[in-house]
Amino acid sequence: MMYTAEDIITYLPSPTQADRELITAAYEFAREAHEGHTRYSGEPYLSHLASVAKMLAEMGFGTRTISAGLLHDSIEDTGVTENEIRKLFGEEILFLVQGVTKLGSVRYYGSDRHNESLRKLFVATSQDIRVLIIKLVDRLHNMQTFAHVPAHKQKRIARETLEIYAPVAHRLGMGRIRKDLEDMAFPYVYPDEYKRVQEIITPLAKKADTDLEKIRKTIQRKLVEDGMRDFKTHTRIKGTYSLYHKLRRRDWDIDKIYDYLAIRVIVKNVEDCYQVLGIIHKFWRPMPNRLKDYIANKKPNGYQSIHTTVCIPTDTILEIQIRTDDMHREAEFGIASHMIYKEAQQGRGVSKASNKPWFTSLIPSLFRPFAWRTTLQAPREEEELFSERSPKEKIPHWIQEVAEAHKSTKAPHGFMEDLKNDFFSYRIFVFTPEGDVVDLPVDASPIDFAYAIHSEIGNHVSGARVNNKLVGLDTGLKNGDIVEILTKDSSRPTQKWMEYAKTTLAQRKIRASIEATAKSA
Ligand code: MN
Repeated sequence: MMYTAEDIITYLPSPTQADRELITAAYEFAREAHEGHTRYSGEPYLSHLASVAKMLAEMGFGTRTISAGLLHDSIEDTGVTENEIRKLFGEEILFLVQGVTKLGSVRYYGSDRHNESLRKLFVATSQDIRVLIIKLVDRLHNMQTFAHVPAHKQKRIARETLEIYAPVAHRLGMGRIRKDLEDMAFPYVYPDEYKRVQEIITPLAKKADTDLEKIRKTIQRKLVEDGMRDFKTHTRIKGTYSLYHKLRRRDWDIDKIYDYLAIRVIVKNVEDCYQVLGIIHKFWRPMPNRLKDYIANKKPNGYQSIHTTVCIPTDTILEIQIRTDDMHREAEFGIASHMIYKEAQQGRGVSKASNKPWFTSLIPSLFRPFAWRTTLQAPREEEELFSERSPKEKIPHWIQEVAEAHKSTKAPHGFMEDLKNDFFSYRIFVFTPEGDVVDLPVDASPIDFAYAIHSEIGNHVSGARVNNKLVGLDTGLKNGDIVEILTKDSSRPTQKWMEYAKTTLAQRKIRASIEATAKSA
């Protein structure tokens, strides 16, 4: 499928001449830059870029984000320079393209020990929420065309999607992208488990569809009879990956899963949500302890809805999810929905209204008093699924950390200033071959790394390998590098090392060792 520039522009609510020109220029630039490149499917590479741009446009993003979507692989894959992009498309689009390129270097190593740090690194590196969203959409399209990817690459990419991209999407509240990413990656990562889930749901699929449709119609009728006019209803079947997790915790018994089928009722305002709940409970018996009011008590990732489980006389159990339009948009697009909303309000262009980095907006508690009330019923079910670390913690710890660290740096002064001040521009994360993370200042050397691990290792460094290549001890380390230190008993720190070391820890240890050697000599 090859979308044209015109196809992409049709998704803009009211494109100006300038919007058209920018998108067309980016489109033509991408076509030329990727001339002769093809995807694994044999399609021209442009088809990927056009699809990413089209999805961004569909999500409601503005012209610059869409253009960055068209250009996102140009620096990495073609001879295009940053200067060219700056000259033709300006600083902001260049910044987005650079961000996406940088994110591409956050690699997945296949060890669970890395995952949490990688997610953190991934979010922190993106700096601007739009960068992260372009990258998520990029991955989404890569997954959609996954069948053409060579088999030996499929598994690694699918794992990365499942372990890094989908959880990041989830934690940003981007429910739709998360579900798509998970369900597309699942069969490649866990083929046997996928088969098992399929065997359970395939026989149910037909009845599920007809039941859902019937119940949806009944709900519509009931609501109208009770005087409701302004509402929408959708049906949803639980994603296979999310279902798999739940099946594992319910002895693989689908009858113990009450939200396999769900109907969403979307209304105009919160009052209507409770009215719908009343109408539904009057008509169908709610299951005890299954009412979850995430409107009164938001989920940590911002999710809001009322969930209730009802038994339908035809012996179907299903969940009904009631929410407003705004809540629905937020459940689908998460943090991005706020931006989309802002863009829509301002007509066009990309808002940079906030001086705060986007991740701080996820954590109101850090910036204003935030009371977490106990929920009507413990929101155990869904929560358990993805809060890997501590279920007691309401705000994902890692995002909290990112924001706290940011808060402790200087107060932001405008967008570009904010970027410079971003503490991730002077911290890097590198890995041991075993997958442990060491965070160091930018430009730290293997010497700093060695001392950060242990002073005995530091004191006997004889060489270093970065990403499996022997390097000099003065090499500047980069985000995501895997660093292996070679030691020799006879090796000792030298004065030269003082120049290589960027951390005070390493410098102190080197000085101490040199002095000790001098004394004993
Ligand atoms: Mn791409």
